[in-house]
Amino acid sequence: MKVKHMQKLLERKEKMVLELLEKAGYEAYFVGGCVRDALMLAKTEETLSETFSIGDVDITTNALPEQTKEAFAGYRVIETGIKHGTVTVMLPGEGVIRNNGCCDEQAVTVEITTYRSDGTYSDSRHPDRVEFVRSLEEDLARRDFTVNAMACSIRGELIDPYGGQEDLAVKKLRTVGDPDKRFKEDALRIMRGLRFASVLGFEIEEKTAAAMLRNSGLLANVSAERIFVEFKKLLSGNNAGDVLRKYVDVLEPILPELAAMKGFEQHNSYHKYDVLEHCIRAMEAVKTTSENHQYMKMAVLFHDMGKPDTYFMDDKGVGHFYGHPKKSEELARRVLGRLKADKATVERIAVLVKYHDLLFDKDERLLKRWMNKLGADVLQEILEIKLADNIGTGNMSPELGQKFEDIRDMMADIIAKEQCFSLKDLAIKGDDLIAAGMKPGPEVGNMLQQLLDAVIDGECENEKEALMARLSIYRS
Ligand code: ATP
Ligand code: MG
Repeated sequence: MKVKHMQKLLERKEKMVLELLEKAGYEAYFVGGCVRDALMLAKTEETLSETFSIGDVDITTNALPEQTKEAFAGYRVIETGIKHGTVTVMLPGEGVIRNNGCCDEQAVTVEITTYRSDGTYSDSRHPDRVEFVRSLEEDLARRDFTVNAMACSIRGELIDPYGGQEDLAVKKLRTVGDPDKRFKEDALRIMRGLRFASVLGFEIEEKTAAAMLRNSGLLANVSAERIFVEFKKLLSGNNAGDVLRKYVDVLEPILPELAAMKGFEQHNSYHKYDVLEHCIRAMEAVKTTSENHQYMKMAVLFHDMGKPDTYFMDDKGVGHFYGHPKKSEELARRVLGRLKADKATVERIAVLVKYHDLLFDKDERLLKRWMNKLGADVLQEILEIKLADNIGTGNMSPELGQKFEDIRDMMADIIAKEQCFSLKDLAIKGDDLIAAGMKPGPEVGNMLQQLLDAVIDGECENEKEALMARLSIYRS
């Protein structure tokens, strides 16, 4: 069947790989996510976010890896996973192949995989062996979801033996074949399914969803790194909140701390929702940038993770959670450690969770002291988390919203005017104090801090002369 509107895919540079393989006498198709994305663009362009685009392009062929390599003699070819039938070809920019095989700036890499089936799995992780197969249909059968099991030829013909188009039209995620069998083969597919539901806004078909829950224990067999990659993608999707609301039980074997928040009532007039619903609402509300999006979403989702462990009901029947930020930090570190998150991510999330309850006020001195202690960027992020936290209670007043905006402006102003709030901005350094007769040692640091406090408090100008004069007063 020929599908119109596949232009977005057929305009891609990778098209030349199909041309070259066909010219060499082989079959070759675009396959998987790129076909799905192109169809989504064609069918639902108006409802997709502006940033939606076709991701990496994958190509499938009946050429064996060695034959693919031969067809691309003269190109730089990397044997990415030759055992699994995958080679990566580098397409140089500007259509120029350099003599040294090096690539230009707009070079594109493309993975080409031989038609294969995955054989049997005995560990829910790796196929025992892969087998090259003769037909495209057999290759498509090994793919996870029907919407990921379509291929498209260079002429725009769609090969769709498992009803991917139909499911895509109604935004349904359904496994190719029996879902229990497919999740038992490879439990990572459970995480991929949740991720696609979040990122693409698809519903998970009933039987597929039930099988996800039944087989969720197998997630323990999947490497933490791969789970974390999928979890981060899940949180970055527009429908992350709804996926967590519906499927947190599926995540329980790998994130029991998150599942424990579900249905945990707060018994406090300040909060309308249980702990999980509150954290999800806050996560949906938090303002992020493209740089901090991933860790901010995670920090907000985890910010009250310590509440179930610190819950206490007073004799009036009101719930309290004394010390919960610290407990949440401890649990966030535990979760992130288990998921093998990198150190920088762990530390950033830990500081945001630890200080999410910080008391803010429209007070320049107070803000500068915290900017000095935590860093301006961290404090700005904590303010956004605190605002989201308030929105997530379901009880935020417009006055409080205004107060947050004022504080946000005040901090931006301090930064824009390059006002002094840290030792690196101070107009004198340790060497100046030593030149003035102080002995090197910890007193120098303490004195600098005292001088910085005087500048922050408006008692002294941030100028060398004024600071030296104040130094003499402090030392006399
Ligand atoms: P995206 O690139 O947007 O993350 P994708 O669907 O292209 O999504 P990839 O990981 O690039 O995902 O994989 C390409 C294709 O390979 C998929 O569309 C699917 O057909 C197949 N695939 C990937 N991982 C699995 C898996 N664990 N089990 C079965 N098929 C898979
Ligand atoms: Mg892909």
